[in-house]
Amino acid sequence: MMIGIDLGTTNSLVAYLNNGKAEIIPNVLGKRSTPSVVGLSDDNEIIVGEAARQRISTHPDKTVAAFKRYIGTDREVKLGKQAYRAEELSALVLKSLKADAESALGGTITEAVISVPAYFNDAQRKATKAAGELAGLKVARLINEPTAAAIAYGLHKNLDESTFMVFDLGGGTFDISILELFDDVMQVHACAGDNQLGGEDFTKLLLQYFLEQHGLTFKKLKAIQQAIALRLAENTKISLSSGVDALMRFELKGKEYETTITQIQYEKIVEPLMARLREPMVKALRDAEMNASDLDSVVMVGGACRMPMIRKSVSRMLSKLPHSTIDYDQTVALGAAVQAGMIVADETLKEIVLTDVMPYSLGVGINNPNSREEGDFLFSPILERNSAVPVSRADPYYPISEKQTKVDLGIYQGESRYAKDNVKIGLISMPVTPGPTDSNRLDVRFTFDLNGILEVEVQKDKLTKRLVIEGNPGVLTKQEIDASFKKLANLKVHPREKIENITILNRAIRLYEQNIGDNREYLGELISHFESVLLTQDQVKISDVRANIEERLDELDDDPLGV
Ligand code: AMP
Repeated sequence: MMIGIDLGTTNSLVAYLNNGKAEIIPNVLGKRSTPSVVGLSDDNEIIVGEAARQRISTHPDKTVAAFKRYIGTDREVKLGKQAYRAEELSALVLKSLKADAESALGGTITEAVISVPAYFNDAQRKATKAAGELAGLKVARLINEPTAAAIAYGLHKNLDESTFMVFDLGGGTFDISILELFDDVMQVHACAGDNQLGGEDFTKLLLQYFLEQHGLTFKKLKAIQQAIALRLAENTKISLSSGVDALMRFELKGKEYETTITQIQYEKIVEPLMARLREPMVKALRDAEMNASDLDSVVMVGGACRMPMIRKSVSRMLSKLPHSTIDYDQTVALGAAVQAGMIVADETLKEIVLTDVMPYSLGVGINNPNSREEGDFLFSPILERNSAVPVSRADPYYPISEKQTKVDLGIYQGESRYAKDNVKIGLISMPVTPGPTDSNRLDVRFTFDLNGILEVEVQKDKLTKRLVIEGNPGVLTKQEIDASFKKLANLKVHPREKIENITILNRAIRLYEQNIGDNREYLGELISHFESVLLTQDQVKISDVRANIEERLDELDDDPLGV
């Protein structure tokens, strides 16, 4: 049996083909998706999924999320004493999905199809494959997410619908892909998107509106109140996907703030975000040299597409009703499972990916005026991710002080605000004559060609310095993969059969921190009671009490999604 996996930034899913029909495999908690979050428990055991996610706000230094954004780079994050690369953390998520599939289907699973964004570069693809290997899975194929979505709708069998757009609006990113199918080949013609636009931005804008109405400022709220306010906005947003209005009520220092938001008001509030959906669609069509009328169909993916206005707006812009019968969150995993089934049956679909877009941003490190630490630079992008290649652009930079005799420019690749969180790929030094800083203007030009080679040129007056950077810093060698494999094998992982207990306990602890007064006291009692029952090791009793506590927590937690 080969499984299909959607290894997502926020959530991951696993599916398989059951008698010709793709089905999602629920995890050990009975949920269809597993948060892509890894943490370290208080006993120094690795925890993965919901149990880890519940600790994001209570144990931020022992929890990591969204590491898919760094896959294919050398960035490491620390969990306790150990540092991990993104492929190692991804491997832990994949291991957990593999275990879920094995327990649901019986037997050992050794092969998988894993989905990746169509714009992933070679290093990111190799790293995703390495993550699979580290999890004990042979990656039979990496499938592009939009291709998987198209396959989930059976578009690969439908010769009348050969050109289509995949519209993917997730929690934090927006991706548009234009695909064409001919003779068993799925070609990705163009990708465009906005990696700063997603469902979370809708939540934030709604919250900002509500707070402004009441003269409150988000930044002035304590971290715990910010978390509660964000949760309130998230719930309101979700209610507005099915109702005409929703009540927002927020308590602060004994005072209650209330506003009813109607669907019409909400649409007005998020208008600036809706307006940003248009440009990537236009850009992708332009890059593919197509008009909207050339598209045979449109597929919608991503949780934020549940907002009815998104579907309406896409239909209007493209004059086409999008395919949206499959659950938006499950489409990619189901498509990956169909692809896995096709490989087993020996009929696969070939893919051609168009990669003439910048897979990541490139720039230089600059002085951080808010930091006193030496070398704590900010990242100043010169070429931004998703620009069409070949591309060349120059920006001016100046020395920080009048006494400087040279400027050292670190060259970085990545998307993080802080230079140290990106991958350093080079350094170029330029001599300057001490004197007023604005008389020492350096023009820094970055040129990125079709072969993925970056040329950096720094010019000052008549002096020019050049540096050519080739190669792939983010790819692990065979030896490094073997070493990682041993490292992961030696980790103490929280026992699978006890994960339900720790998930409930972590949720209760999060709620304890977020509540005050009677509720907090009551939660404290629930936690103590559950801890004492856990000590008895009586599994029947533990499971009874756990079910009971879960019901109590549901009553107190207006956010079943957690965090
Ligand atoms: P994904 O990354 O595809 O799982 O999408 C997650 C995003 O979808 C988050 O921003 C959620 O708030 C959003 N989302 C999930 N369900 C709904 C809903 N019913 N209405 C509006 N947004 C939703």
